[in-house]
Amino acid sequence: MRVGVPKEIKKNEHRIGLTPTAVREYVAHGHQVSVETNAGLGAGFTDEDYVRAGATIAPDARTIFDCSDMIVKVKEPQKVEWEMLREGQILFTYLHLAPDPDQTHGLMKSGCAAVAYETVTDARGGLPLLAPMSEVAGRIAVFSAAETLLKHNGGMGLLFCGVPGVAPARVLVLGGGVVGLNAARMALGLGAEVVLLERSIPRMAYIDEVTGGRVITRYSSINAIEEELVKADVVIGAVLVPGASAPKLVSRDDLKKMKNGSVLVDVAIDQGGCFETSRPTTHEDPTYVIDGVVHYCVANMPGAAPRTSSEALNNATLPFGLALADHGLDALKANPHLARGLNVLNGKLTYPAVGEALGLPW
Ligand code: NAD
Repeated sequence: MRVGVPKEIKKNEHRIGLTPTAVREYVAHGHQVSVETNAGLGAGFTDEDYVRAGATIAPDARTIFDCSDMIVKVKEPQKVEWEMLREGQILFTYLHLAPDPDQTHGLMKSGCAAVAYETVTDARGGLPLLAPMSEVAGRIAVFSAAETLLKHNGGMGLLFCGVPGVAPARVLVLGGGVVGLNAARMALGLGAEVVLLERSIPRMAYIDEVTGGRVITRYSSINAIEEELVKADVVIGAVLVPGASAPKLVSRDDLKKMKNGSVLVDVAIDQGGCFETSRPTTHEDPTYVIDGVVHYCVANMPGAAPRTSSEALNNATLPFGLALADHGLDALKANPHLARGLNVLNGKLTYPAVGEALGLPW
C-alpha cells in the first residue's frame, strides 16, 4: 500500500503521524511510505532520517494526498486537508468528531474511510491510542506544577522536592486513571508527598499496590476534597467520566480556603475542566491567578514534548496502522477493537455516539 504522512498544519502541533522507526516497519512489510518535506522537524526528525528509514520525501501535502492509499496523521484534518481526501482513501488519525460538525460533513463528503485513534479499544475496555498521551500529560503536569510553584512564575516560592530539613510540596491528585497515576508516580519520584482521590475502589487498590503504599489514596468524597484542598500546595485535576463533561470538584469559593500561591493544574481541561475557575490556556501563556491560586490549564499538554509524544503515539498506533496497510479495510473484520475506530465510511457516519452528538443518522 502507498502510505502518506503530511506535515501537521494545526497551530502549535509539532507531532508527526509516523516516526522514522515506524516507517521502517511499514517498509519492512512491503509498503511505500512518502513523507512531506520537513514534516518531522518539529519532533526532531529530518528528511534524511526518513530517507534512511526507506521513505520518499514529497514536496507538499497535495502530492501526499494525491498519491497515497492511506494517510496517517496526528490531529484531525483541517478544511484544506479534508478537501484533498478522496473516495476509498483510508485516513488514520485523531478525529474527535462529536463536537465538530464541519469536519464530520467534510469527511462524509470526501468518501474516505476515517479511522479515529480515540475510539479504537482494547480487550480491557480501555482506549489504547489515547493512553500514551495521558501518560505524557500526567508526567508533564508535575514538571509544570513544580515550575509554577517558583516565585518568579507566580507560585508561593516552594521548591517542589524540598531540601533536607524542609518539607517538599504536598500534591493532591484528583482522579487515579492514566493521567492521575502517572502524575502521582512522577510527583513521588521528585520527592513530593502525594494524596490521590478516586471513586473506583479496585483502582485505589491497584495504585496502593504499584506504589507500595507511598501514594495515600482516599475515596473522593466532598469531605475528603475539602480536607485535602486546604493542605495542598499543588492540585492536579485528572478526572474523567466517559462521555460527559468533567465534574466540577473545586468551586470558586474553595479557592479562598487554599494556600496563597498554591497551584492548580487542570489536565481535564479538554473535557471542560474539573475546577469551576478553569479556562483553557496555551503553552505560550499557560497560567493565570484567581484569589491567589495559580491556574495552569493547557489544553494540549503533550504538545510540549512532540518528540516523546510522537514516539509514544507511534508505539501504540503501529500494530493497527500496519494491519490497515497490510489488509486494507478487511483489517476491521479481523479485529473488532480496530473496527471500533471506524467513524466514517462511504459518505456515512458509522459511529453511534458521534451520530447522537451531531443529530445525524449512522
Ligand atoms: P481515565 O479514564 O484513565 O481516568 C479518569 C479517572 O477519574 C478514573 O479512574 C475515574 O474513576 C476517576 N474519577 C471519575 N470521577 C471522579 C471523581 N469524582 N473523583 C475522583 N476520581 C474520579 O482518564 P485519563 O486518561 O487519566 O484522562 C483524564 C483527563 O485528562 C481526561 O479528561 C483526558 O481527556 C484529559 N487529558 C488531557 C490532556 C491535556 O493535554 N490537557 C492530555 C491527555 C488527557
